[in-house]
Amino acid sequence: MFLVKVALLTLLHPQQVVVNGTRIVRQGAKLEVSGNLHNKLTFTGKLLVAVNQEFRRHYVGELEVTSKNDELQLLLKTNSEDLVAAIVSAESPPGAPPAALEAQAILARSWIAASRGRHGQFDLCDTTHCQHFKEPAPAGVRAARNTAGLHLVWQGRPFAPAYSASCGGRTKTAEAIGWDDQGKYPYFAVDCPICVRDEPRWTRRFDDADLTEIRVHPHQERFRLAIGRRLGWSALPGNNYEIDGSEVVGKGQGHGLGYCQRGGAGMAKQGASVAAILNHYFPGTAIISSR
Ligand SMILES: [Zn+2]
Ligand SMILES: [Zn+2]
Repeated sequence: MFLVKVALLTLLHPQQVVVNGTRIVRQGAKLEVSGNLHNKLTFTGKLLVAVNQEFRRHYVGELEVTSKNDELQLLLKTNSEDLVAAIVSAESPPGAPPAALEAQAILARSWIAASRGRHGQFDLCDTTHCQHFKEPAPAGVRAARNTAGLHLVWQGRPFAPAYSASCGGRTKTAEAIGWDDQGKYPYFAVDCPICVRDEPRWTRRFDDADLTEIRVHPHQERFRLAIGRRLGWSALPGNNYEIDGSEVVGKGQGHGLGYCQRGGAGMAKQGASVAAILNHYFPGTAIISSR
């Protein structure tokens, strides 16, 4: 277990926030609470953070609020296991059996450990750039506890394992989607029978410029993210597709690299163990205990 520093709510660019009932309003480089100005405010323990009407979430840890770059900066110092439980709760398909949740917990823990210092001043942000979080659900907490200390390694070395919602039938290699992770893990294309059988097809149309780009650089994750930022995240749902005339027809959601959450849940339903699931999607890796 170690401490992780997470920047919260960066997408909301908050100007005011309510923490455990205290309303904090940004005033230039200062914070105002009931007419008094502060440089920095710190809250510890169980935290309820609310922004406007739209956002209310519980956290546990030490929260530091400052004014930075024309918005409030909320940095949460929390322990890695609370974060593992929060990621499992956010990333698991409904009804996923315990073995799938535990596989996801090992991946989340490995990912957090390998992503330390990603942002310099803090470790992680809570957007798609790093990781979405949810309040930990009991099943997520249980999965974190049952896998405490377990990490996935490749040739004895830790790496930040990738996961996505559904691969569409076969996962991608790092090379196939232009994923540059400095060779920390090559990723292999593996069959995913559950996605072959059950995953619905999607069809998308694009304007000529985008269609040309897709033809020239098919299945490139960088391009999929660029389209997502411009046209919305469901514009090009995944990287498993073919171009059919003026249409792009595909299966699956997400980059398709590494762990397939839909496939992992399916394997677990058929009785596969945590190790069997992780070995299927990450050939050649080992699970080690580093408590
Ligand atoms: Zn980030
Ligand atoms: Zn799959």
